[in-house]
Formats: sequence, structure tokens, C-alpha cells
Amino acid sequence: VSPAIAPDGPLAPGATIGILGGGQLGRMLALAAAKLGFRVHIYCDDAHAPAFHVAAAQTCAPYDDQEALARFAESVDVVTFEFENVPEATALSIADHAPVAPSPRALAIAQDRLAEKRFVSGLGIATAPFRAVDDEQTARAAFQELGGPAILKTRRLGYDGKGQKRVESADEAVRAHAAMGGVPAILERHVAFAFEASVVAARNRDGHFAAYDLPRNEHENHILKRSIVPAPLGFGHITEAMGIAQRIADALDYVGVLAVELFVGSDGALLVNEIAPRVHNSGHWTMEACLVSQFEQHIRAVAGWPLGDTARHCDAVMENIIGAEAHDWLARAGEPAGLHLYGKTEARPGRKMGHITRISPLGTLKVADH
Ligand code: AMP
Repeated sequence: VSPAIAPDGPLAPGATIGILGGGQLGRMLALAAAKLGFRVHIYCDDAHAPAFHVAAAQTCAPYDDQEALARFAESVDVVTFEFENVPEATALSIADHAPVAPSPRALAIAQDRLAEKRFVSGLGIATAPFRAVDDEQTARAAFQELGGPAILKTRRLGYDGKGQKRVESADEAVRAHAAMGGVPAILERHVAFAFEASVVAARNRDGHFAAYDLPRNEHENHILKRSIVPAPLGFGHITEAMGIAQRIADALDYVGVLAVELFVGSDGALLVNEIAPRVHNSGHWTMEACLVSQFEQHIRAVAGWPLGDTARHCDAVMENIIGAEAHDWLARAGEPAGLHLYGKTEARPGRKMGHITRISPLGTLKVADH
């Protein structure tokens, strides 16, 4: 018998939350769910998934195994995701058996860069100028219309800079598209931004919205290296950024945590780069700096609970531990900082193995330190 109070009511402690995906985000979601008294069932196609270690139940099966998906969905009270590249068909078939949050529609939009940019600009929110690229003709025309430099990206399955190529001419755009196998793509004008930032925010089943303070995000080799809070942004820009995230969340009737990645111009102008319909690496600092972390917030939202307090109680610098850096775990363990290791055995180059968050009293991290 499920301890859920009612199909649409808040899930009571003891209920089971199903998570599709078993990486570090699933692992930290499972730990946060346990804090609130929930059980977690992880579904992942990788037998070594880090989230399996901390979950009450595990299913290891491919994402298109309809029978395993149905059994999984029947065994839980709600299903959520820790990565956005869940096939829409998978999300829809799960929705036949259990409530799903965020919705399959939100996933479908966020996993297609063109649909995502059209959706965001359709809300009147600024993005880098973009064009669809499907073949040689559209690649050439897109570059000629946008001007260079530009970035060609596959519409689907890109992350951490994968499936992207900077191009300086129409010929180069055509060649880059061919090198990507001619798959559906998007060409974006290259933006000369001052820095990158993100809004990590949540919306619950009642439509309540809460955003965390904005970090400034620094990438190395296309992978997030550091998130620093606060970002050097004034009150007006922070309010504007949170408003953008709220409009996106409302338009999607979104339930859960989402991240909106932004380019910030030297004049403070904000452009949306992409939406992540899930907890996000640039929100890990909330585990040390806020009463309720992004992981707990996501669990609260999908369980139909009130959202928690997003106030930030200290300044913070979150740094990813990538590849061989993980071998230095003992030195990091000696630091007065929040250390998180994901339980991955193989420290492959570029692989996110853990993160560390160093905090300092509120207001002590100056923009000059960034
Ligand atoms: P994405 O996978 O779309 O988030 O892109 C990965 C990274 O590439 C971003 O975080 C930016 O640093 C850079 N990038 C992506 N699109 C653009 C653009 N239109 N202009 C400049 N830099 C970009």
C-alpha cells in the first residue's frame, strides 16, 4: 500500500520516488530524498551507476525496455529525471503508469536546441541569433544571414561542448555540418559575453516559484570548472534573470528544479543559452550555502511539498573535481570545505568525479576575487 496521501496530494514520508538516470545528480537527489524520509528507486542502463549505491531499489535496464519501465513506474509514487536526454517516448510511456515531473513536454523542448531557442524567443526572451541547419543550402544561408563567427551545434545530444564547432565562414559552416554527419543542427551567432551565469530555480505543483542567487560559471575545456556566488551582478539584473526563469517555468507548467544558463554582456544584457530541466552542476554550492539545497528542493517540488528556503547564508566557490584530480582526495579531505565524491571508480579524463565547495562569510567574496 502506498503511503501517498492522495494521487494529487503531497507524498508522505515513506513514499518512493523513482529517478531515471543514475549519475551523480541522481545520487545527490537520492541522498536529499532520504533526508526527508523518502525511498528512492533508481533506473539506469549502466550497472556501475553511482546512484545505485545509495538507493533503496535499483533497476538496471535499457531506456527503451518497455516492460522494465512499466514495472519501475508501477513500483514508485512519482517519477523524475536526472538527465534530459531521456527519449520522449520513454517519458510518455512512464506517464501511463505514474505521475511524471517535470513533464515529458519540458524534456522534449530542452533536449532539442532548436525547439528550445524557438520556445525561449517565443516568450520574448533574448537568445543568441540562430537559424536551423538541415543541409548544405541552409548551412550556407544561415551563416550568410547571421554573420560570423558562429557556432554550429547538433540539435540533440550535445553537452559539455560536445557536438559543437566554431565556424568563421559559410564554407566552413557547410564543412562542419557535413563532418557532423549532416544531422539536424542549429547555427548560432557567437556571443562576445563578459561572463556566464545561471539561474537555478524551482516551481512546485501549486505554481509557487523560488530561485537561488546567481553564480558566475567558469568553464575549462567546455566543462564547468567553477561556480562562484555571488556573480558580479546588480539587483536589477538578478531580478531580471530570475524573472526570465519564472516565465520559462510558468510557460512549461514546470514542476521541479530547472537551470537557465545565461550569457551576460559587458553592459549586463542577459541572453539565454540553454535550459536544463533538472538539477544542475552550477547549483551544487546550495548544499553548503543554503538551508535547502537544489536537490532537496527538487524532491520537495516533485513530491508536492512546499518549496524550501533559497536564501544564501554565505559566499561560496564550488569547484569540480575532474578526471585524475580525484586522486588528490586525501588533500581535499583535509581542507575546511564541503567535499563530495561521487563513488566513480574510473577517473577518466574529463569525467566529473566529485566537487568541493569552499565557503566564506556573506559579502566577503569581492568581485575582484573572481
Ligand atoms: P552549450 O552546450 O550550448 O551550453 O555550450 C557550451 C559552452 O559553449 C557555453 O557554456 C559557452 O561557453 C559556449 N557557447 C555556446 N554557445 C555560444 C554562443 N552562441 N556564443 C558564445 N559562446 C557560446
